Amino acid sequence: MSDKTDKFRLPARYGTGEKSVWVEYIQMVAEIKPKLNLGQGFPDYHPPSYIPDTLADVTKSDNPLLNQYTRGFGHPRLVQNLAKLYSPLIGRQIDPMNEILVTAGAYGSLYSAILGHVEDGDEVIVIEPFFDCYEAMIKCAGGIPKFIPLKPNNVSANMTAADWVLDDKELESLFNDRTKMFILNTPHNPLGKVFTREELEKIANLCKKYNVLCVSDEVYEWMVFEPFKHIRIGTLPGMWERTITIGSAGKTFSVTGWKVGWAYGPAKLMKNLQVVHQNCIYTHCTPVQEAVARSIEFELSRWNTPECYMFAIAKELSAKRDVLNRILKDNGFITTPPDGGYFIIADWTKLGKKLDLSSEPDKYRDYKFTKKFAKEASIVTIPLSAFYSEEHKHFGEDYARFCFIKKDENLVLAETLLQAWQRR
Ligand code: PMP
Ligand code: GLN
Repeated sequence: MSDKTDKFRLPARYGTGEKSVWVEYIQMVAEIKPKLNLGQGFPDYHPPSYIPDTLADVTKSDNPLLNQYTRGFGHPRLVQNLAKLYSPLIGRQIDPMNEILVTAGAYGSLYSAILGHVEDGDEVIVIEPFFDCYEAMIKCAGGIPKFIPLKPNNVSANMTAADWVLDDKELESLFNDRTKMFILNTPHNPLGKVFTREELEKIANLCKKYNVLCVSDEVYEWMVFEPFKHIRIGTLPGMWERTITIGSAGKTFSVTGWKVGWAYGPAKLMKNLQVVHQNCIYTHCTPVQEAVARSIEFELSRWNTPECYMFAIAKELSAKRDVLNRILKDNGFITTPPDGGYFIIADWTKLGKKLDLSSEPDKYRDYKFTKKFAKEASIVTIPLSAFYSEEHKHFGEDYARFCFIKKDENLVLAETLLQAWQRR
């Protein structure tokens, strides 16, 4: 039924329609009920209590309109607070009504940015490994993804995410007259790399030279560990006018289920995103937008204090990174500790020798390993090859991605489960 005579086949722009790694691995979690899920990136503990309390207050508010449709491009109180938050950080006054769009998660912003700008045959440069939906969205828009892998330049026991770098010549060779867009992700999922000013300047200079739009996915902007600093590429000279920056309340406030995201950039570029959005969901959930607006307002009132969540979360996470990194190293993985985000990638191949992977039908070794590991060690992780294009999947096959925004007791459980598994 899947040939061309099938009137109701999946449109070709969606490819073969295979399940994404998220659909597949969340289904696996439901089936095998592992003792520990370090796969999909979300906290297994509560955000600061004022955040859900704010949402509860909003839904019970005397104002009946807070449970009704709000302004399509973003609830007024939210876009105003986003403008207050980002204007000082990017060194220019953001117009809340024309330069910000609120979407259903950062996914919605990525979709609006890509579908709103990419036309048939346009080339889009993507750094590998990459958050998997970029490729699918580019193809859905009729664009052609051009991949460039980050590669480790110092393979040693103490390498970190910063040692994964782009080759300058290879980078420039991807730019040409057909290049429409460059997708950047810093801090980076899955590597945890935080791009340095020098690295961003190289990308920015090429975007300017070839007149290319930069979509900068910065959902982990607050999760950057000392001594690294998050640099917004839209603040580099000549970049504001060609950059769309994307953020996520789910990541910022540890409420991934709220699915509020946003994009900001110059009005001319944002207009195209608004068109996609207005014809897709038109307006996102009002009470959740109001609760995010009030939460930003509260954090702005205690900005630059250690309690402010945007600063506290990085400290909390760097301690968790160190704990999980030590546990993984002590138990036979070769890790690449991150400088930002909440994932560690770890080379599993020394341990893989213990496992008979032949019973796993998957094509790629990391899928075989992570599935066997989930069943035998009862720990779910994500195979790194999911973050590579088909032709480069071999670069990811030696690695699994572990999420560490988990309760301390669950990080300790990782050690208990790993040791029990090693003894078997
Ligand atoms: N970009 C990256 C790099 C991500 O890791 C995620 C997952 N949170 C998203 C975008 C999507 O974010 P959201 O849950 O807000 O849609
Ligand atoms: N960004 C999260 C991760 O990388 C969630 C992905 C998703 O739910 N699609 O794990």
